[in-house]
Amino acid sequence: MSILKIIKYGNPILRQPTREVTKISKKIKTLVNDMLDTMYHANGVGLAAPQVGENLRIFVVDVSDPKGPIDPIIFINPKIIKKEGAINSYEGCLSFPKAYTNVRRYKNILVKAYDINNRPFVKEAKEGCLLARCIQHEFDHLEGKLFIDHCRNRFEANEVLSKYNLPPVEEDKLINEDFLEEEIVKFEKEHPEIVEKQKEETQETDDTNE
Ligand SMILES: [Zn+2]
Repeated sequence: MSILKIIKYGNPILRQPTREVTKISKKIKTLVNDMLDTMYHANGVGLAAPQVGENLRIFVVDVSDPKGPIDPIIFINPKIIKKEGAINSYEGCLSFPKAYTNVRRYKNILVKAYDINNRPFVKEAKEGCLLARCIQHEFDHLEGKLFIDHCRNRFEANEVLSKYNLPPVEEDKLINEDFLEEEIVKFEKEHPEIVEKQKEETQETDDTNE
């Protein structure tokens, strides 16, 4: 059990592709335990292997109440097998100390993965809950994608980054999300009261780290 160094934005490791885990060896089990220790130590709700310098398809999350018992979920070789709807919410990342921005995500997802005992499982996360967003955030890390890539343009991304003296985003990394944007605009038009409520909530809670 040890606390690993979390790799910060700007390090090319975060952009590298990851490879599938072929065997859940003792080494992998140690890595997963160390990732959990590291995530809890940093008060994060999720951590992906590239964030600790391992280009493997593994991430861990725990979205349980910080005051209650821990409830870690380990995802090895995950696949998002269904995604629908869209939601906009505030996100941060342990590799970007203090930086937060609005990120568009799918509202409902279904993920298939293997646990630490090599048993397959399916996890459903709905209504843009923290788990749904966290899984998508961590899954992005396995693809070399970062939350800042979800900004609408470089101006928006660099405004967030420059505030914390972080390097600007590379132009080719920005993700086109016309579908999510359309869904969000449609939803906001139909439910202005929910949007208003979300804005208030964002101002109250803006410190989840993934
Ligand atoms: Zn992250």
